[in-house]
Amino acid sequence: MRSITLTESMHDKVVWRSRLGIEVDFSTATVWDDVRHAQNDVSWGKLVWFPQAIPRHSFFMWLLVNRRLKTHDVMAKWSVTGNTNFNLLCCSLCMTGPDSHEHLFFECNFASKVWSGVKDRARMADIPEQWNAIYDHLVGIAASKMAQHVISKLVVAATAYFVWQERNARLFSNKKRSPEKLAEVILTTVRLKLHTCRFKNSVQVHSILHDWKLPRGLLIEDDDCG
Ligand SMILES: [Zn+2]
Repeated sequence: MRSITLTESMHDKVVWRSRLGIEVDFSTATVWDDVRHAQNDVSWGKLVWFPQAIPRHSFFMWLLVNRRLKTHDVMAKWSVTGNTNFNLLCCSLCMTGPDSHEHLFFECNFASKVWSGVKDRARMADIPEQWNAIYDHLVGIAASKMAQHVISKLVVAATAYFVWQERNARLFSNKKRSPEKLAEVILTTVRLKLHTCRFKNSVQVHSILHDWKLPRGLLIEDDDCG
């Protein structure tokens, strides 16, 4: 039983009796941590949520890693009546067949061109262009604070976000952008984010600053970006 009690002292103080029966100083953080239903950490947690992440990209990545995007293959499973022939649906990016998580990220001919335009900057040129391989790689580096690894997560999230945005723009409006234009938008978005980071001084980071055309003024001794 948990409750808020007052202790007898010169000055009354609010304390919280935890679920383990231990009385601790009251704070909303303590209470929330005590009453929430805590689950085990998930392997993709730091892939999606990390200090340098762009929030709208993080939410999108949460949908992607949990396969919650409303792609054609997912919608086909919702078709109870079977009246809708989803095989007639075409990926709005390449027009070759129904889209899916695997197709859009990044087996689709269009999405693959976008990814090709940014993967070198993400230092992921050697990773196969299948979502499962990209996901496995990111899970492996998810907890790393190295600049290269943080940038990999930022670039993948931005690429997936803008490919999905382009997919929807083509489905619901006539606006179209080329793979080259999308790659440019992705790199600009990530570069702007990197401007808000501080980098630990090292040879590797010098190379990263050069590649991204970032000023050396972002270098500090103790970094938040690797
Ligand atoms: Zn496609």
